[in-house]
Amino acid sequence: ARALVEAPLGKAPGGGWLDARETEQLFDCYAIPRLPQVCARTEQETVDAAARLAAPDGGVVVKAQGPGLVHKSDRGAVLLDLHGEQEVRAAYRDLTARLGAALTGVLVQPMAARGTELLAGVIQDEVFGALVVFGLGGTTSELLADHAARLAPLTDTDIRELLVAPRCAPLLFGYRGGPPADVGGLADLLARLSRMADDLPELAEAECNPVIARPDGITVVDARVRLL
Ligand code: ADP
Ligand code: MG
Repeated sequence: ARALVEAPLGKAPGGGWLDARETEQLFDCYAIPRLPQVCARTEQETVDAAARLAAPDGGVVVKAQGPGLVHKSDRGAVLLDLHGEQEVRAAYRDLTARLGAALTGVLVQPMAARGTELLAGVIQDEVFGALVVFGLGGTTSELLADHAARLAPLTDTDIRELLVAPRCAPLLFGYRGGPPADVGGLADLLARLSRMADDLPELAEAECNPVIARPDGITVVDARVRLL
């Protein structure tokens, strides 16, 4: 993890953002559960990756990658639930046609099963230092701003409090007859993010959004990391 945050400092990346590959390596250092994914650079690589990653009868997702593409869905750069080679080829062509030089490659993932979309992350606050943030995720996350935060490193009490602090928290505990989500998995994720923040003061922010929480587990679907 230390080598990863030190390596990019010399190469003046786009505002300090790690690319998908670096982000994935950093998260793997902390065994943070994430979707399998492949960074593809050509149409054929994209098709091959999709064939490998799709579950039987399952779709795939193709997302544009590029230094300026931080909020991908704003640019129509996240194409969901693609089935079969033709749809994957069409998605790749659509992204290259619309984004042109802004596109350096695409990220291919399997379509994740439905669940509650959450945000979990770390931000470096000017006054307080590293904070762990938790709350409602998905594309409406910023709009609804239903987030809570605690100072890193988190204690067990902080984690318990953080899990129930956002207004959306009841969704995790069996809302309206639905099954409860894997809250233990979320607690573990918060502990891992806290450890990462504590180890790496170079992190300006590390945001997982969405983390999809289901009864049988949690998985990070999208993440972005920026260094100071
Ligand atoms: P960005 O945050 O850059 O706009 P995301 O990768 O978070 O892009 O994708 C936006 C939304 O698309 C997510 O909030 C989620 O609802 C959906 N999504 C993205 N990837 C997947 C996936 N692999 N499986 C299911 N839904 C996905
Ligand atoms: Mg996202």
